[in-house]
Amino acid sequence: MGNRKNIGADGVSRIREQRKQAPSVSALTTGILRGDTTALARGLTLVESHKKEDRKKANILLEKCLAQKSDSIRIGITGVPGVGKSTFIEVFGAVIANMGKKVAVLAIDPTSTVSKGSILGDKTRMQLLVKNTNAFIRPSPSGDSLGGVARSTREGIILCEAAGYQVILIETVGVGQNEMAVHSMVDFFLLLKLAGAGDELQGIKRGIVEMADAILVNKADGANVKQAEHARSEFERALHLYPPKVNGWQPKTLVCSSLQNEGISEIWEMIDDYIVNNKKSGHLQSKRRSQNKKWFLQTVEEQLNARFYESPVIKEKLKTLLELVEDHRISPFRAAEELFGFYKLMP
Ligand code: GDP
Repeated sequence: MGNRKNIGADGVSRIREQRKQAPSVSALTTGILRGDTTALARGLTLVESHKKEDRKKANILLEKCLAQKSDSIRIGITGVPGVGKSTFIEVFGAVIANMGKKVAVLAIDPTSTVSKGSILGDKTRMQLLVKNTNAFIRPSPSGDSLGGVARSTREGIILCEAAGYQVILIETVGVGQNEMAVHSMVDFFLLLKLAGAGDELQGIKRGIVEMADAILVNKADGANVKQAEHARSEFERALHLYPPKVNGWQPKTLVCSSLQNEGISEIWEMIDDYIVNNKKSGHLQSKRRSQNKKWFLQTVEEQLNARFYESPVIKEKLKTLLELVEDHRISPFRAAEELFGFYKLMP
């Protein structure tokens, strides 16, 4: 406050003005590469933006960050609300951070768009990890679609890695299609479960269990220890029904108590082991290559779609042709062909 008096009203408004101005891309890049968390947070805001001019800047930033060599581990963590994800990340993140590694936590929670409030309820979560200087936590951007959050999270990973984060934890709520998106951007996919929640079969039906590299039965404490162990062996049996993964990995099942901090460092050891072996065999590199390829093709597809339907000619012709199709005056196939005839890919 005393400072403010000294610099006067003009000075204050000048500082406010400077703060409002977005930093240049090169300033952001320098800051991120230096590991500056303010620059990283601003960079993440930039990649979350859908504005055309921001996208251009974001692409330049991403290119520069991608040039930075990184040897990170990307871990996806999923589970239904209440399973203990944030409690787990709080202790798991601390295990990693206390080894001297820098850990970043990113969240995918597109449900916040629907409910206007995040299921991952950001404010009170991971209060200890937030204070750890080796940790960086970024809540999910609100008001975005799954496609939007998935893109910005993927890009966020690149920024965090450029800022020197060696372990990236991607958390998602186990509802809907979120898990699929997270699975396609991580090296290791961890599924958190509860004993006796009756959703063992549901997970199997929805194909989530199949995606998991490990299933973790959380809350194995107090009177729940026996039940947790029982659930673990059930999952182990279920996992044996699936063919082994392309890298030969047989998914593991473990129990832990995030609340009591039991069985947590064993999980890190398992993942570290997995990463070391998969690097040696080349599977990690090929998994990332195929993930990149998939994201590229998916982006092309999305953009083609968006550009096509945004075209004013298409909008107009689509309306007319739809009416004709509905009235059986033209076949749907012929209508589609005609519609494409109006579309010019290049201006
Ligand atoms: P999230 O919604 O998956 O992020 O779950 P939270 O981490 O918020 O945990 C939901 C509730 O379960 C909280 O009341 C936690 O204290 C509790 N909880 C989380 N982990 C454990 C655990 O290992 N044991 C027990 N007994 N409770 C836990």
